[in-house]
Amino acid sequence: TRYVYRFGGGVSDGGKGDKNLLGGKGANLAEMASIGLPVPPGFTISTEMCARYYEEGESFPQSVRDEAALGLAHIEAITNKKFGDPADPLLVSVRSGARISMPGMMDTVLNLGLNDETVEGLAKTSGDARFAWDSYRRFIQMYSDVVLELDHGAFEEALEIAKEDKGYSLDTELTAEDWQALVTQYKAIVVELWDGKPFPQDVHEQLWGAIGAVFGSWQCERAKVYRRLNDIPADWGTAVNVQAMVFGNMGDTSATGVAFTRDPSKGDNAYYGEFLINAQGEDVVAGIRTPQYLTKTAREQAGAKPASMEEALPTVYSELAKVFDLLETHYRDMQDIEFTVQQGKLWMLQTRSGKRTAKAALKIAVDMANEGLITQEEAVARVDPSALDQLLHPTLDPKAPRDVIAKGLPASPGAASGLVVFDADTAEKRAEMGDAVILVRTETSPEDIHGMHAAKGILTARGGMTSHAAVVARGMGRPCVSGVGSLAIDAKAKVFRVSGREVREGDIITIDGATGEVMIGAVPTVQPELAGDFGILMEWADKVRRLKVRANAETPLDCKTARIFGAEGVGLCRTEHMFFDAARITAVRQMILAEDEKGRRVALEKLLPEQRADFTEIFEIMAGLPVTIRLLDPPLHEFLPHAEEDFAEVALATGIGVETLKRRAAELHEFNPMLGHRGCRLGVTYPEIYEMQARAIFEAACDVAAKDGGKAAPIPEVMVPLVATRRELELMKAVIDKAAKTVFAERGVTLEYLVGTMIELPRAALKAGEIAEVGEFFSFGTNDLTQTTLGVSRDDAGRFLTTYVDKGIYPKDPFVSLDIEGVGELIEIAAERGRKTRPDIKLGICGEHGGDPASIAFCEKIGLDYVSASPYRVPIARLAAAQAAL
Ligand code: ADP
Ligand code: MG
Ligand code: MG
Repeated sequence: TRYVYRFGGGVSDGGKGDKNLLGGKGANLAEMASIGLPVPPGFTISTEMCARYYEEGESFPQSVRDEAALGLAHIEAITNKKFGDPADPLLVSVRSGARISMPGMMDTVLNLGLNDETVEGLAKTSGDARFAWDSYRRFIQMYSDVVLELDHGAFEEALEIAKEDKGYSLDTELTAEDWQALVTQYKAIVVELWDGKPFPQDVHEQLWGAIGAVFGSWQCERAKVYRRLNDIPADWGTAVNVQAMVFGNMGDTSATGVAFTRDPSKGDNAYYGEFLINAQGEDVVAGIRTPQYLTKTAREQAGAKPASMEEALPTVYSELAKVFDLLETHYRDMQDIEFTVQQGKLWMLQTRSGKRTAKAALKIAVDMANEGLITQEEAVARVDPSALDQLLHPTLDPKAPRDVIAKGLPASPGAASGLVVFDADTAEKRAEMGDAVILVRTETSPEDIHGMHAAKGILTARGGMTSHAAVVARGMGRPCVSGVGSLAIDAKAKVFRVSGREVREGDIITIDGATGEVMIGAVPTVQPELAGDFGILMEWADKVRRLKVRANAETPLDCKTARIFGAEGVGLCRTEHMFFDAARITAVRQMILAEDEKGRRVALEKLLPEQRADFTEIFEIMAGLPVTIRLLDPPLHEFLPHAEEDFAEVALATGIGVETLKRRAAELHEFNPMLGHRGCRLGVTYPEIYEMQARAIFEAACDVAAKDGGKAAPIPEVMVPLVATRRELELMKAVIDKAAKTVFAERGVTLEYLVGTMIELPRAALKAGEIAEVGEFFSFGTNDLTQTTLGVSRDDAGRFLTTYVDKGIYPKDPFVSLDIEGVGELIEIAAERGRKTRPDIKLGICGEHGGDPASIAFCEKIGLDYVSASPYRVPIARLAAAQAAL
């Protein structure tokens, strides 16, 4: 196997199509080099080596060492420098790079190849001793942290003390001698912390140490957490890039920066980024110095003073702007770019498709399609359906009063209110207890990931729009306000102070990631804007979509929301939710506790008009659309009274003694209610319940059909739950048909309706051919079908499912994303057998999975007619269905 691929100096062994092999960074470095952009030469060790590295007990085969030697020779030939040459040394960076970017998760080492001898050579050839010693101390610090895994606090402390001694406030004030003295101290720190061993002087030892550390960082704890949160398989591995260093820290005509070709937060078509003069890459994101704006317009809009790059370095800036345009046209997507300017010369260090907020994703996709850069179908494919979630939720009410205490950078949009916490662990703990929390940090680092995930919003005192906090928050869809310079945080005392106000842990604040405002208290919110880019993209999605999208809804509010979000009917109306209503529960209890049919009928009489009213309202809202109504499903004991006064109330309503009622209640106890007396088993044993419900449905349908000249006539689909056998459905269908016949005779009209069943038991899936002889539609109830197929109770799975997913037993939580291999096969079997019996049988899915993009793709593949999702997920389902059809 070949492990090493070169790039730069007119050579590109790989290209942008090789992300799996070379990682995103390596593939794009090769691609940029091949289209003639200035990329420092280097080579990539492929991701295949990562797996082998671990297989061989974290060591390297000779073959890769030989190949890397050739790679190094390639760099040396182009740069005309030699690695380890005391006179004119080649320095390299060793950079990680997985298939998809994992910001800040893995390690990079810069300035590698410096030692006590080569530093002198660098000082001479550059004519800048200060720069040489600054680079050396950076290298010792980074190498010690990343490769030797020594505590970096000691190095930072030494630097702070040195600055204090000299009365400096900025790193830039240190002289060559200062840095040199610091290097001596740093080396002493290494000896002390590294069991008496000196800092490695052999440049090849340095190189392989760093390469090993990058491969090693793939299995570090924070990378694992990140992979779990983002569904990245552990076996992908990372690649390693070894690349000639270019220096942004060689004086005032040197700089380093990061940029996006469009605004990743709002999506505007304007360059967006930050840079620092006389600095190295890490400085911009680390938040040590506050970076400057890229463009003059952005600087002016922010009212900032320090010159933008456009103003400070106009010639390189215009060259950079050309590269932005070229890259965007070449990749046909918004790019996230890292660059360095060494003494006026521009170097490209990275490009990739930029992470963006959902709002920006929408705008950029729609804009690019309108610009003709991509097609409408591509625009539809570009937006991650799950990310729409961010947009469909409320934002701060612009009319509500705000007690603004500070303003920072609008780093990630959306608004959040919650109680203040000062560390990631507390954030996670409080979130688990059900609290909404805002994580407040001076700055965030990869160690804070779990807390950021648990938080509703993130607030930092330091760092710009491309700081760790900002990038990660945007990726997670969390609102974030960063760089609130006036914020004085005392994390130990759990308090922050700003504008003379004091906020303690547990106090409620609100942050607005769109404006950068920080407010005391919770600010009310308003519903999102559904027109504009959102509306346009959904229209394009609807053009390519084949699957219909319905909603799971049973309240008038849910039905209305569903229609606003574009639902094409109700896929699941759970009638029991209507039974819990406070005004009805007594009648429901009366029915359940009745000794016989006669007693039950008395109670059902009371419930009939109520149910009819429910259905009338739903039918009116869903005018002309299909509505699937599931007959009573849950075990009866769920409705049983528990409190004394509840029993007393039922006793009063029925005239039956409390003691008798209690005995009845005890009789209804079940050991395993999920598999007990529920679903159609209720209808089989007490047909009068389903009879009442069917009557209510048909009466309501007739009422609504009688209005509006029949235009609003609903198409009721009456659904029998938990069927395992043909006979069950046959019995229930007879009850329903009889109710329909009676009502239609009474009303003198006949309406179209369907009777079908939920497929939620493995037996039903297997016997679907027979069941379809009776049922006119199937709706896959994948929540129960998952429980019954896996033999896993959803309510008890929490204790072990995470471990199962971690160990790769299931790729994802099977209650969130359909177990396509297992449960999916049953669905396929049922669909096929059902269609064989009844070619026009209607097939849909109504479990939680109906709103999950991966599950929707499966539904498209097997040709279901519709998916049904919760109202807020309807747009997600529409977009996912469109993508599945492309
Ligand atoms: P990450 O994936 O965390 O961004 P990178 O490998 O991109 O890590 O490197 C981190 C920083 O180091 C970047 O900002 C980049 O600009 C800088 N850097 C990496 N390689 C070089 C190099 N060869 N010359 C100069 N700067 C570099
Ligand atoms: Mg980078
Ligand atoms: Mg069910």
